Amino acid sequence: MPTVDFAQLTDIGCVREGNEDAIGYWPHEDGLLFAVADGLGGHNAGEVASALALEILAREMDRAPGTWSIDKRLRRAIQEANIAIHQKSITVPELRRMGTTITASAVVGRELVTAHVGDCRLYRVRNGQLTQLTKDHTWVSEQVEYGILSAEEARTHPRRHMLTRSLGQHLIVGIDLLRTDAQNGDLLVQCSDGIHSLLPEAEIAQIIQGYPPQAACEALVQRARDRGGDDNMSIQIAAVIDAPPPATRSSSWWRFGR
Ligand code: MG
Repeated sequence: MPTVDFAQLTDIGCVREGNEDAIGYWPHEDGLLFAVADGLGGHNAGEVASALALEILAREMDRAPGTWSIDKRLRRAIQEANIAIHQKSITVPELRRMGTTITASAVVGRELVTAHVGDCRLYRVRNGQLTQLTKDHTWVSEQVEYGILSAEEARTHPRRHMLTRSLGQHLIVGIDLLRTDAQNGDLLVQCSDGIHSLLPEAEIAQIIQGYPPQAACEALVQRARDRGGDDNMSIQIAAVIDAPPPATRSSSWWRFGR
C-alpha cells in the first residue's frame, strides 16, 4: 500500500453564483485515484456535467475487469462519461450544450497514470522543481505552441478560457493519457483553471513545498481569493511518501470503496 498523503479543497470563489467544479478521490488497496472536473454551460448545467463525469468515472473504474490496465480503465471510463454527458445534453433541454473538463490521476504502486481533457492541470514537484505534466486543451495554448502568442500573452488573453476539447461536445473525445513513475517525495498538484490562472507556478511550488497538503490547499485557495477569485477554484494535492514495488495485477487489484 503506497502511502499518499492527500488533501483537496473546492471553493466557489468571489464572483460566481454557484460552484461548477467537482472533485473526488477514491482510495483502493494499491493506491489512490483523484479527479477534478470543471463544468461549463449555462444556468446550472456545468455542475450537472462535472458531477456526472466523476460519478461515471468512479462507477466505470469499479466495474472494469481486473485484467485491464489502469490506462485502459481510465480511457474507457472517461469515454463512457463523455457519452453520458453528450446524450443528456442533447435530450434534456435545460442541459443543452453542457460539458466539462476532467483530469484524473491514479497513483498505483510506483506508477502515475493520468487521463486528461481540457484545461485543469496536473503539476509535479520533484527535487524542488515544478513541472506541468498536462497540456491545456485551449485555443491560447495552441497559439503558444505555434509561436503566435507568448506564454505571458496567453495568460491574460481574452480568449484564454476557450477550450478546444471537453467532455459532452461530441460522441467521441480525444483523451491525453500520460504514464510516468511515482517517486518518494513527489508532490502532485491537480487544479482547475480558477487556481492556475491566478497563481504563478513559482508561487504554487513555494506553497506546496512549505505546508502539508491540507494547509497548502487552504493557502492556495486563500491566495487565489485575494487576487479576485473570479472563477470556481479546486485543488488536490497528493504527497507520495512511500511508493512500493509495482502491484501484481490480480482481479482484486483495483477495488474502489463505494
Ligand atoms: Mg474554471
